[in-house]
Amino acid sequence: MIRLNTTCPQCGKDFIHRVGRRGWREQWLGLFCVNPFRCQICMQRFLVLQPGHWHVSSVRERRESERFPVKFFTSLTGDQAQETGTMVNLGVQGGCCQSEAGLTIGTVFRLNIHPEEGAPAIEIESAVVQWSLGTWHGLEFRQVAPEQEQRLRQLMEACWAIARGEARSGSR
Ligand SMILES: [Zn+2]
Repeated sequence: MIRLNTTCPQCGKDFIHRVGRRGWREQWLGLFCVNPFRCQICMQRFLVLQPGHWHVSSVRERRESERFPVKFFTSLTGDQAQETGTMVNLGVQGGCCQSEAGLTIGTVFRLNIHPEEGAPAIEIESAVVQWSLGTWHGLEFRQVAPEQEQRLRQLMEACWAIARGEARSGSR
């Protein structure tokens, strides 16, 4: 189904991000100004008719989940030990963690993210290291309990709202 407005058909939010086209059908629909988007809160993917908007995909658009620059204290608990780090960017499906811990690609651990001091941590049951570059580690969230996922989505929604507010005040 092709939508006419840029709100998510699943959750109704409008924190969406244009993503790359998939397959010949979407390439073809692009000729008619139908563009794919992904909701950054619930991750639903959908098509929107945008008359007059022909988009050329860029590398940035190919990333399906937008990450926000953040600075949240984080603890990582593995089989062997507990380490600490800082989330430097975050999305609902993963993020980048800076840590001195010797993390190698494929390492799986439990992650506790502390967005606010004193508030309970957001618990990611299972996260896996996708890439490592010095002390920077790209993490993908594999397993998150529903109530924790809800909190993570609320946090990302707040991040989007702040980013949007800053973009508006900057353009004035
Ligand atoms: Zn949504």
